[in-house]
Amino acid sequence: MSAIDDLPPLREVIARHGLMAKKALGQNFLLDLNLTSRIARASGPLEGATVVEVGPGPGGLTRALLAGGARVIAIERDARCLPALAEIAAAYPGRLEVIEGDALKVDFAALAGGAPARIVANLPYNVGTSLLTGWLTGEAWPPWYQSLTLMFQKEVAQRIVAPPGAEAYGRLGVLAGWRTTAKMVFDVAPSAFVPPPKITSTVVHLVPRPEPLACPVKALERVTLAAFGQRRKMIRQSLKGLGRDPMPLIEEAGLDPTERAENLTIADFCRLAQLTAG
Ligand code: SAM
Repeated sequence: MSAIDDLPPLREVIARHGLMAKKALGQNFLLDLNLTSRIARASGPLEGATVVEVGPGPGGLTRALLAGGARVIAIERDARCLPALAEIAAAYPGRLEVIEGDALKVDFAALAGGAPARIVANLPYNVGTSLLTGWLTGEAWPPWYQSLTLMFQKEVAQRIVAPPGAEAYGRLGVLAGWRTTAKMVFDVAPSAFVPPPKITSTVVHLVPRPEPLACPVKALERVTLAAFGQRRKMIRQSLKGLGRDPMPLIEEAGLDPTERAENLTIADFCRLAQLTAG
């Protein structure tokens, strides 16, 4: 492995700070700094960029981002990682800010302080989908971030990029496809992590659409929840989950009541959302 910085190898850092991975915190660490550099580069040119990283852990991805020239704001829940991260901060004076806390409770927009920023993270699997949903459903659009470069379980990545008609198409695909262009960048084998997870992971890159279809976001969440909550049923049945007779709604939206959620386009969902909100 070629060195990207003068800091000690991650395996040594983990041993010295006693950072045995905790499953409850979704901890699967990446120790190969060439791989973390590849993930960092997938977010675009790093020189002078501001990056918000969720879950730096012992700092493999953080080091790659810093070595590439970025300024990093990192949020980590596990206090055991803070001394290791402080060593990295000392090696890159003024460029790494570490916040101890739960990313699910952080006001991200305030964190970036109005500066153009991107999010890059090897997300904890147990909270990754909630975080992404939160970033996709803010009221303000375009959002505070310029792009999202995130590692997910491959199966979740497939749901994020799935188009209408695909087996993996669901709420995540509608939200991501509505407001962003999303693509899978590359897979990462279980053997790249310590400890290795049971599944393959995939890096996904999402860029906000400047002008997505006009659509009330809360209503879109309600409609997709009802429709995909019973994805094998026809929409005349599944949309009863909205708590009203769905037939007038389906008619007004110009949809076929015998259609299933997986065959509705994002524009169809936006129309339904607009009609239920209005
Ligand atoms: N970035 C490191 C890497 O690539 O090796 C660690 C990635 S590990 C999959 C996920 C990290 O997220 C862990 O360090 C874990 O402690 C942290 N984490 C878990 N839940 C969190 C939360 N709610 N808020 C912030 N960090 C969290």
